Amino acid sequence: MAADAAEVQMSARPVLPAAMRDASAREPALPSLIGLSRQALGAALLEAGVPEKQVRMRVGQTWHWLYLRGVTDFAAMTNMSKALRDELATRFTLARPEVVAEQISVDGTRKWLLRFPPRGAGRPVEVETVYIPEEGRGTLCVSSQVGCTLTCTFCHTGTQKLVRNLTSEEIVGQILVARERLGDFPDASVPPGAIVPSEGRLVSNVVMMGMGEPLYNFDNVKEALAIASDGEGIALSKRRITLSTSGVVPMIPRAGAEMGVMLAISLHAVRDELRDELVPINKKWPLAELLDACRAYPGLSNARRITFEYVMLKGVNDSLAEARELVRLLKGIPAKINLIPFNAWPGSPYECSEWEQIEAFAEVVNRAGYASPIRTPRGRDIFAACGQLKSASERMRKAEREALVVSAHVV
Ligand code: SAH
Ligand code: SF4
Repeated sequence: MAADAAEVQMSARPVLPAAMRDASAREPALPSLIGLSRQALGAALLEAGVPEKQVRMRVGQTWHWLYLRGVTDFAAMTNMSKALRDELATRFTLARPEVVAEQISVDGTRKWLLRFPPRGAGRPVEVETVYIPEEGRGTLCVSSQVGCTLTCTFCHTGTQKLVRNLTSEEIVGQILVARERLGDFPDASVPPGAIVPSEGRLVSNVVMMGMGEPLYNFDNVKEALAIASDGEGIALSKRRITLSTSGVVPMIPRAGAEMGVMLAISLHAVRDELRDELVPINKKWPLAELLDACRAYPGLSNARRITFEYVMLKGVNDSLAEARELVRLLKGIPAKINLIPFNAWPGSPYECSEWEQIEAFAEVVNRAGYASPIRTPRGRDIFAACGQLKSASERMRKAEREALVVSAHVV
């Protein structure tokens, strides 16, 4: 086990030499075409001189190259004139986020530390994205924010203050990087030795379960998921995209109506008193309101259920009485319950429930007719498991922000 861990540490290699990384961080950033809606992409092309009558066609072509073929260079867009490609290259970038480190777990889980360049004022920020290969599917766990405004007591991300929301470009960028590094674009090949599903697409599912609360970054997440599910590009079915929320109740109906993806709720407790402590957003929107919003979520059926996530904390929320209460609370909601063994992180104040207790809890829930898979912890050795993600990015201090504004004026 110790030897495995050492190898894993060594695989956390920087992908670019430090000097190059610093240089790329200083380059003035052109606006990107990635992450724009079709309409916004059309407006950008029009601005770049594409005749109005051609805009629709050019949007379709660009979309194909960016999302289906995964190109990063305008020169590769061979069904466009050289003059147009050159013009676009002077105005826009297609650069992906920089892969600062890639770690590969003994179980094949991969974690990337990605750095996004500053757009406008600010400094580069970093987030983590995780790929979890399983038999028959490959799930990408995508971040929506750098840090989190919420402070769930069992979550490592919750100890990192919110730095900022990710843009739609940065959310889509995580999917593109993963597909590139895994060889999931046409004509690409899987890196030797990589553990990937034996058939089908390598990134077959996306879960908004990385860093941050996606419903506190609604517009960007919505835009990005529309791109991920667009049938002429990345083309993931909305049934293969899941958004997890800690319970931002007022945004749940909008998520259903405007995004139409699968919903997961970080429940973790069945009494308000305990949930107030574990998931403090509960003080704002308590259990009854949260469950009402779930009941009203559009399109629910036995084939389209809400996933309720329940982290198993020893002696805190794992009694069989709580399992029975969980069943009672969820009555009438097409639901499945995902039991997540607690993943520890440095300084975490909880312990994971005993395995027998998790099984006994699952048994109660199962007997009541709910699927209750116990989520196998993946990538714990590289801190890639649920709730272990965190980056070193910090909010700039006031003095630093002011210094930036001053230098921007001077330039
Ligand atoms: N902010 C959103 C999305 C993050 S999803 C949300 O909270 O739903 C990450 C999932 O992992 C959530 O269900 C979260 O509650 C759970 N989680 C957080 N910390 C964990 C930990 N240490 N062990 C196991 N699960 C954890
Ligand atoms: Fe934020 Fe979700 Fe972690 Fe809570 S569990 S702190 S909402 S990322």
